[in-house]
Amino acid sequence: MSTTKQRLARIAPTPSGYLHEGNVANFLLNARLAGEEGGLLLRIDDMDRSRFREVYLEDIFRVLDHVGIHWTQGPRNPEDFHAHWSQRFRMAEYHSALAELRHHPLVFACPCSRRELQHGEHAHHCLSGKIPLESEGVAWRINTRALPPQTLPNRFGETPFVIDLHQEAADFVIRKKDGRPSYQVGSLVDDLHFGVTHVARGEDLLPSTAAQSVLAELLGVSTAFSQIYFVHHPLLRGADGEKLSKSAGARGESLLEDAGFDLGPIQHWVDRLIEGKG
Ligand SMILES: [Zn+2]
Repeated sequence: MSTTKQRLARIAPTPSGYLHEGNVANFLLNARLAGEEGGLLLRIDDMDRSRFREVYLEDIFRVLDHVGIHWTQGPRNPEDFHAHWSQRFRMAEYHSALAELRHHPLVFACPCSRRELQHGEHAHHCLSGKIPLESEGVAWRINTRALPPQTLPNRFGETPFVIDLHQEAADFVIRKKDGRPSYQVGSLVDDLHFGVTHVARGEDLLPSTAAQSVLAELLGVSTAFSQIYFVHHPLLRGADGEKLSKSAGARGESLLEDAGFDLGPIQHWVDRLIEGKG
């Protein structure tokens, strides 16, 4: 009898914009990571309802279908997603994580606006911890000042990544001002909920992995979290060297409507990366 846990990779698009080539590259990498034997979970991140659009949800399924990615777990189509897989079905789990986190001394309430925080200083003495967490309109944040640097393995290079969270994601949010759990909480809880074993994500998400690792520690689930094999990959760049996800916000149409969309170079990029040629 084998005790080896079945490999489960995941793709986690957010229906807040049309997918771009960088997303497709990431999906292909995750499918490769799952391998022939492993499972692939489609986990659609719809926590941010203000940016959710049905057309973007539909786009995810159309692009996956077009690219030929077969997932073994998760919604089969938009209707199935709404009926069974939306993150709202796991809201109790996110809130139970938040209920545990709120007692930790690193957690504080912060009513500051983005503008007030732009120079890294809180405008309401938030760090004193005197603002009650149950106040209206406060975000719950983690005080990142005293956190040690987080070291994450680099699968494509020799030097591990060292993330200074205070530099990269100062006082990151765990509960938003509207009371909803943040992306970091949703992602961590979901990956553990589904038993994800492998994650390929772009290097731009290194601070997120580091933040989730801190949360796992605070929640006493760091053993489970540390067993997830993370691959942080370089970002696929556009012909002009521009980061694709940056221009994605401006993409007003689906990749599938774009006559210039060519899967070949993306596939080639993924192959080269996996072969270790970068
Ligand atoms: Zn503040």
